[in-house]
Amino acid sequence: MPAEIFGIAIHRTEIGKTPEEVIEREGEHGLGYHYFVDLEGDVHRLAPDSHLKWHARSWSRGFLGGAVYGYFAGDVPTAVHTHPTARQTLALTNLCCALWHRYGPLPIVGHSDLPNGSFEPGKRCPGPLLDVQAISREVTIQYGLARLARLTVVSLDPEVSVAEGLC
Ligand SMILES: [Zn+2]
Repeated sequence: MPAEIFGIAIHRTEIGKTPEEVIEREGEHGLGYHYFVDLEGDVHRLAPDSHLKWHARSWSRGFLGGAVYGYFAGDVPTAVHTHPTARQTLALTNLCCALWHRYGPLPIVGHSDLPNGSFEPGKRCPGPLLDVQAISREVTIQYGLARLARLTVVSLDPEVSVAEGLC
């Protein structure tokens, strides 16, 4: 069980299309994730956040793992589903926003951005075709706007001090 959550690591997985398949097939490799975004853009919880799931070697102890169905490494032109759909990108953004509202702003990184995070040197996970930095920027904006909206509502109510809206 992670003592503390330090960030969100984004992965790709192309070996399971359904949450059940992902749990089974990744489990065969000793791997697991907390969340899975399927091809339709539905988010599935595969395990409680408090459960330790091995998805990025020792980083797994502090990072939640979210996997998106597809192969986004860009090096196999014939691979099936090589680009995330708009629905998948939106779902991943919404998932990260929800996690920020639960835990506060957390770094959102690609699996391969974590040094020594994979047994496979040079692994491109999720890969350049899933733009994790763009998602992180969008989450920052959405989260900021939501907090600003809350602060604005609070500050319009004379019974509530603005400082309370900052918590
Ligand atoms: Zn990965």
